Amino acid sequence: MNCFPELTYAVYADGELPAEEAAQVEEHLAACSRCRRLADSLQVETRALQQALQADEAAEPSASRQNPPQSA
Ligand SMILES: [Zn+2]
Repeated sequence: MNCFPELTYAVYADGELPAEEAAQVEEHLAACSRCRRLADSLQVETRALQQALQADEAAEPSASRQNPPQSA
């Protein structure tokens, strides 16, 4: 049983892995519960990160930073 390095699962979670390699990873995940758990947690992390980034964009942080200049 050849496990892939964690980086491979991170790239796989990002959806950036070439289809050929992704197929090999999926095949391995089906057989290896340890890597499946690792890939699962990486996918959860990636999704949470993407949602946080999208929420950040939707919130338009620039709007809350518009303080009128105060004359002293
Ligand atoms: Zn494995």
